[in-house]
Amino acid sequence: MEIAVLLILSACIGSFLNVVIHRLPENKSLIFPASHCPECGQKIKPWQNIPVISYLLLLGRCAQCKVKIPVRYLIVEILTPLIILFLYMFFGLSLEFYKYAVLVLLLIPATFIDIDRQLLLDKITIPGMIIGLSISIFAEPAKFYIPFLSLLAGGGLLMLVALFGQFIYKQESMGGGDIKFGAMIGAFMTIDSIIFSLFTAFFIAAVFSIVGIFSGRLERRSIVPFGPFIALGALVSIGFKNQILQAYLAWIGWK
Ligand SMILES: [Zn+2]
Repeated sequence: MEIAVLLILSACIGSFLNVVIHRLPENKSLIFPASHCPECGQKIKPWQNIPVISYLLLLGRCAQCKVKIPVRYLIVEILTPLIILFLYMFFGLSLEFYKYAVLVLLLIPATFIDIDRQLLLDKITIPGMIIGLSISIFAEPAKFYIPFLSLLAGGGLLMLVALFGQFIYKQESMGGGDIKFGAMIGAFMTIDSIIFSLFTAFFIAAVFSIVGIFSGRLERRSIVPFGPFIALGALVSIGFKNQILQAYLAWIGWK
């Protein structure tokens, strides 16, 4: 029962996140006007606004003009409840669950806007830092300094990489958006978790690039947004950091 409510609620939130992804970069109101087809202006009726189900019933097209609805809508409506469900399985309805759920609701729009536009919006990352610091301090007031240090660690590590990249390639490899994004995620985490997140992000990005270049899908100079890898690294860190570290230590024969 709890799980059903959680899934339905987070699918609806996912539906709202689609609106955020579409409207926030264009400085449009998130609430007015009501959802409408950007092609023909047709208002979306309530039965056409049910997460996942409507997309499938309409076969991914506007009911009026049949223009294709980007598959991103379906992906976000499935991904949001899926990740929330994982968090629930790991943490139950604990304070940690709510903290990471809030982080995920920031990660998803930031990541998909980055994929669409190669842009990590200050409008998400700056308030995100404040929200992350507030929740972390509320959760452990005695260790109020930890989220500040993690924020600095997240932003600082990416800034080092950015400076290093500029030195090697003589061009900007990582933007200020990535740095603020890393800092925001740090505000929700401990120092070791954010460092683990970023190393995981670099590792996944490296594998992605190598596979992409060798399979001919990427050029050596292709621009790939780094935000999605940072977000992915954070999720892996939240869910599996301890298991991965233990497996790694066992593998190198340290334990
Ligand atoms: Zn339409």
